[in-house]
Amino acid sequence: MQETLLQKGSQHYIDLEDKHGAHNYHPLPVVLAKGDGVYLWDVEGKKYYDFLSAYSAVNQGHCHPRIVGKMKEQAETLTLTSRAFYNNRLGVYEKYVTEYFGFDKVLPMNTGAEAVETAIKICRKWGYEKKGIQPNDAIVIVCGQNFHGRTTTIISFSSDPDAKGNFGPYTPGFVPVEYNNLEALMEVLNEYGDRVAGFLVEPIQGEAGVFVPDADFIPKAAALCKERNVLFIADEIQTGIARTGGLLAVCGDCSCQGHCERQASFTTPDILILGKALSGGAYPVSAVLANDPIMGVIKPGQHGSTFGGNPVACEVAIEALEVVRDEKLAQNSRKLGELFRSKLQKLADESDLVSLVRGRGLLNAIVINDTPDSSTAWDICVQLKENGLLAKPTHGNIIRFAPPLVMTEEQILDCIRIIKETILNFKK
Ligand SMILES: *Cc1c(COP(=O)(O)O)cnc(C)c1O
Repeated sequence: MQETLLQKGSQHYIDLEDKHGAHNYHPLPVVLAKGDGVYLWDVEGKKYYDFLSAYSAVNQGHCHPRIVGKMKEQAETLTLTSRAFYNNRLGVYEKYVTEYFGFDKVLPMNTGAEAVETAIKICRKWGYEKKGIQPNDAIVIVCGQNFHGRTTTIISFSSDPDAKGNFGPYTPGFVPVEYNNLEALMEVLNEYGDRVAGFLVEPIQGEAGVFVPDADFIPKAAALCKERNVLFIADEIQTGIARTGGLLAVCGDCSCQGHCERQASFTTPDILILGKALSGGAYPVSAVLANDPIMGVIKPGQHGSTFGGNPVACEVAIEALEVVRDEKLAQNSRKLGELFRSKLQKLADESDLVSLVRGRGLLNAIVINDTPDSSTAWDICVQLKENGLLAKPTHGNIIRFAPPLVMTEEQILDCIRIIKETILNFKK
């Protein structure tokens, strides 16, 4: 209250975080105070296009009135019962989300990392109880350059030295293969044989720099898994829920929202992991989806979360998914994504600074023509901020561009203009 009356400037809030918060992030120097749709405002009142969308959590746009409305309504009625009792929202959500994505069952959690942990636990248990793997022998194959979150087990199979260094001893049972390399996957499947319980993969590697695999990698990897009785686990926390131009990235370029006749020809994961945009950024909501023969291995007391599946989360998630469908966000993402890449490709042709443009739907990145340890991408992002657009480098010389999916064509053309002017006027 006093804070808002005093109208403190950005530096005040930056100093507060610097002094009192752990330094586990390196934010761009902008202090945000308000969001609406594709826009953000800083404490000085300057308006920006959001080109990160909280790592694709805000696909539905900031403070979507339908999502916030449901959240308020439920928050005034019942917020938390824990799973010690039933509540009148959870079952309704479970029916909704499983029908939406086409699975028998859902296990509700809160954050993405928790959902990945949950998927790993289900996969291992399935491996012992259904596949007959010997006790403590289960292997989960993971990909190089993966990002699945920050827990002790998940960083155990990270290839990022910052994420992993000095957090050992590490959880065993994970074997990495090169991403987008079917032969390498085949070799590991052969080497570990019946010990392999699952293959955990991002259909597009977001944190690694929006690395899009060859079109046949995901379907062929899934087919290999099926052949070997290995669970194909898709981490769609960042790529899912319309971000990449289909309801899920495993749907390829199909934007039917999982309800068209083509669906059968696309990959259906054995375990699907969702988070981020499952709540439209309003609330931490994550989920693990699977069919009965897999989810059935989890019995009372074997997994859980106090907040997982709480009534507010349930209402928020249903509305967030309704918005995706009603506003045809997958279609919009696909259409604007094509426009965006074609315009940025022209820019890459014109400018020595941009060496590559890649992505799918509205999950895109440009690779800056400099070394990963140079500050060029960071400096460009600072300049983009000055020019009214917020984006952040990932892995040094790559800039990810992922605006909310509620963007209009007119707005994205304005954004392309900002990016173009910034790049063409940039001086090292
Ligand atoms: C963000 C992300 C996670 C982790 O989600 P948190 O909510 O930050 O724990 C896991 N996997 C992928 C692919 C992500 O993008």
